[in-house]
Amino acid sequence: MGNISLTLNGTPVSAPQGMTILEVARENGIDIPTMCYLKDLAPVGACRLCVVEVEGSRTLVGSCHTPVTPGMVIQTHSPKVLEVRRVLIELMMASHPDTCIVCEAANCCELRLRATDLEVGMPRFRTRMHYFPVEDENPSIIRDMSKCILCRRCVAACDNIEGKKMFSLAYRGFETKVIYDLDKPIGSNETCRDCKTCITLCPTGALRLPMKFGQEKKGPVLYVKG
Ligand code: SF4
Ligand code: SF4
Repeated sequence: MGNISLTLNGTPVSAPQGMTILEVARENGIDIPTMCYLKDLAPVGACRLCVVEVEGSRTLVGSCHTPVTPGMVIQTHSPKVLEVRRVLIELMMASHPDTCIVCEAANCCELRLRATDLEVGMPRFRTRMHYFPVEDENPSIIRDMSKCILCRRCVAACDNIEGKKMFSLAYRGFETKVIYDLDKPIGSNETCRDCKTCITLCPTGALRLPMKFGQEKKGPVLYVKG
């Protein structure tokens, strides 16, 4: 497939046909925030943070799953886009515990980092909160589902990268939850073999390593050009 020409934030660029807007933006050093996207895996479009403005489109489009087309004119950080991203982050924070100050993930939390980038402080509203007991019986992983933002990275990573399918999405609406097995605590499950893939990719403190001396959660897994 050949290259096509398009305009990205006012600059003419050329990109291989078939690439998504997100990929082209990243190739050109533009950081579009994402909370659910994982490189090389099929996009799930769960977080909607990657929306951009495309000339001629009545609505904002998800850049992680929209391929570029010849002559496309794209704005990745227009005032309208930034406002929508702020509201999306604010909604995530509105149903999230106020525990950053004592959270083990505070230094590597993508949610917190993106909130700071977008200048989102205390949410203006509160939605219903989910409280789940912390699951700390498993020697390889601690789950605190109160901090889960339903990005589904753990589901996709365990299935597509590790081939284990430990997690799945269950229930509907407000009750939607990432579950293990038939919604059991992860306990001492032996399928989980300490690969840490989901822990590394989780954008919040919902998944973490059992803390041992000198060991802490790595991250965040943010886009860095190069
Ligand atoms: S997961 Fe992130 S946003 Fe949530 S309490 Fe921890 S540091 Fe704060
Ligand atoms: S546990 Fe983490 S990776 Fe999994 S859906 Fe929740 S926030 Fe995303």
